[in-house]
Parts: sequence; C-alpha cells; structure tokens
Amino acid sequence: AGAAAEARFISSAKGKGLFATKNIRKGETVFVERPVVSSQFLWNALYNYRACDHCLRALETAEENAQRLLGKSSLVLPHPEQCSIRKDLHQQCPRCQVTYCSAECRQAALEQYHQVLCLGPSRDDPAHPLNKLQEAWRPDHSYGSCLCLPPAFHSPASPDLLSSLSESHRNMHYPPETSSIMLMARMVATIKQAKDKEWWVKAFSQFCSKTANEEEEIVHKLLGDKFKGQLELLRLLFTEALYDEYLSRWFTPEGFRSLFALVGTNGQGIGTSSLSQWVHACDALDLPMLQREELDAFIDQLYKDIEKESGEFLNCEGSGLYVLQSCCNHSCIPNAETSFPENNFLLHLTALEDIEAGEEICISYLDCCQRERSRHSRNKILRENYLFTCSCPKCLAQADDADVTSDEEEEGEGETDDAELEDEMTDV
Ligand SMILES: [Zn+2]
Ligand SMILES: [Zn+2]
Ligand SMILES: [Zn+2]
Repeated sequence: AGAAAEARFISSAKGKGLFATKNIRKGETVFVERPVVSSQFLWNALYNYRACDHCLRALETAEENAQRLLGKSSLVLPHPEQCSIRKDLHQQCPRCQVTYCSAECRQAALEQYHQVLCLGPSRDDPAHPLNKLQEAWRPDHSYGSCLCLPPAFHSPASPDLLSSLSESHRNMHYPPETSSIMLMARMVATIKQAKDKEWWVKAFSQFCSKTANEEEEIVHKLLGDKFKGQLELLRLLFTEALYDEYLSRWFTPEGFRSLFALVGTNGQGIGTSSLSQWVHACDALDLPMLQREELDAFIDQLYKDIEKESGEFLNCEGSGLYVLQSCCNHSCIPNAETSFPENNFLLHLTALEDIEAGEEICISYLDCCQRERSRHSRNKILRENYLFTCSCPKCLAQADDADVTSDEEEEGEGETDDAELEDEMTDV
C-alpha cells in the first residue's frame, strides 16, 4: 500500500498542508515516520532519564523506571516479561561511552553525525567547545536562571529536589527547554560527515522558514528578554565547536538565527517510556476477570503515587525534525494525533476520525485542556508560540464570541505557556 497522505502547497499565507490520498478509518495509522535528526533534551539527560543517544528509546527496564520515578528502589512490578527493554542489546560508543539501545543505533549514529560529535576522552572536559556550547545553553534553559528555586536545585546532582517542589512551581519554571541546541549540532555534523552534502541541505530546507521579523519573535520567545546577547554567545560557541566552510552561511548572525528559528518552529517533541510500554502490554493481556481487576488497580495506584513524586515528568524527552509531520497544520478540532508507541523516535500519526481522500489532515498544537478554552485564549497561545491565528471550523464558529477571557483564564496565561507547550509536544 502506498502512503495514505502527502504534503501539498496550500497558499503562500498558509504554506504547506498534509492531505489524505485515500479514505482513512478512525483509529488507523496514517503513517509512521522517522526523523531526519533528533536529540534528547539536555535537562532530561542530566536528570537521569536514560535514553538511547540515537533513537531515544528508554534504556531503563519498566521496573527501574517506576522505581526511579517513585524514589522507591524496593518496588516490584508484576508481569516482568511484559517489559520490552533488552539490556543485552545495549551498546556504548567505545570512545565516549554514550549508550545506544542496539548495534544498529550505534552504527546509524556513527554514520550520520557521531564521528563529528564524539567527545572521546574529553567527555567531562569543561573546556571542550561542545561542552562549552551545552553549558551556555543549559543555565537559562533548565534550572540555573530561576532565583526562586532552592539553590540545591541548580545542581543536577539532586534530582530528588524535583519532587519537593509544588506542582504549580514546577509547571512555571521547569523545564522550559522545548528545543535543543544539540539538534542544531547534529544537523551541522550530519552535513559535515555526508558524502552528498547537497542532498542533506535540501532535506533541511524543506522545513518551513520564516521572515526575519518572525524569526526574531521566535528567538525572543525561546531565549527570553536577553535573547540578542544570548543568541550571539551561542553563535560564537557554535562556530568554535562546529564551523564548516561548506555551511558558512549557517554561522553568520542571520543564518544562525534562521537555523535557530527552524528548529524552534519545526521541532516536534518526542517522549518515550519503558513504563508506559509495559502498561500497554499489560492492557493487552488476556487475563481472568479477577486478575485483570487486580492488575488495573495496581497500575492506577502506581500512576497516582508516581504523580505525587515526579509530577508530569514521566518520559525521556527530546525533539526531532520530521519532514511529513512538520507539514501537518493545526486545528482546534483535529482529525489526527501523533504518538510514540514504539518507545523510540518513530512517530505514528493516527486518525481520530474517519478522513476522506483529499481531506486535510490536522493535528492540534494545543493539549486537551488548552483546546477547551475560549477562542481568544487558544489563539493567544497559538500566536505566541507558533505565530499564527487559527481559522479552523471551531474558531470560525466562535468568531462572534466576546473577545474576552474569564479572570481565571487570564491568570494562568503567560506563566505556564512553556510548560503547556512542553506538555503538548511530548504526549506519549
Ligand atoms: Zn536506539
Ligand atoms: Zn562517541
Ligand atoms: Zn481553531
């Protein structure tokens, strides 16, 4: 069977969109897509969410995963045979010791970008240009900039502190990282290593680009008020670590800003979890009724306990660039959704409704709580984060609604935008 969807140009205002090429039934997988490049978020790796350095597959067993999120090393999970993690297949780079889920991932990384990015014995050397780049990215992007957090939280050595923060506090301040400097580093390294450099430049140029003004807005949004100085610092460190004659354009102030904006607008959040895979496998077990009830009750309680300890930070998280998915426009009443059911970077686009051949396929950039809010509130989030105003059927139907939000809605806005965005992007 051919692909069930294709990208088409709609208009210069709307850009591209994704359209069904045949009738798709509700619940069907429209396509499965591999990213051209992806990377785990730095804060996520720093706080011991262990993932394959290439495909982001979670590396802990479901039981280890649950133990860490609960802060309880004595926890025992029933049905251990339903855990999909195969530690016997894990491999490390012999030079820098980063871990992969398999020999295939180690090889794929090495062939695409890891020769350029392997730190070798300099892995912990703070003077190495790549370490300096990551360090410059981190302070303002994970824990360092927030003065109201306890000082110990600024040290990655104490992930337990996460759980001592109230949920609302965590939502506000942790973690704002929604894209990664290492995604950009992998793009450069990919082209540096490639035999056919032009092919890769073309592949990356398919992602939507913005006007200079829009790029400025996106960078401001991602880096905060001191963005101009911050962007210039990152550019200098990026250049020191990765400069390449062939890509000299990407290292100029304008080129770097464009690259930054490209990753900021097209980066799709990826979330993986051994525990959630184990739960799905358990759900599919054919059990006698009593055992079924017992197992369901155990899992419900487990998630309640984990939420108390770790809040919403359950997954290995990162972001990636997907050629087809990035063409998928937003609707407040989407007919498709993305997920990562294979516990790695393979994105599944699944139909939420029957979709007819020729119909546009839309996902929602808002999470389900945000989608319930007024047209005004939804569009405020969409404009701030994605620079567009929605004209989906729901927004058109509500066009005559008063242009005000309730006090309650107004209060939450602004403070939680990053957390909401993060949340939306990483639903597993
Ligand atoms: Zn892998
Ligand atoms: Zn290495
Ligand atoms: Zn809408």
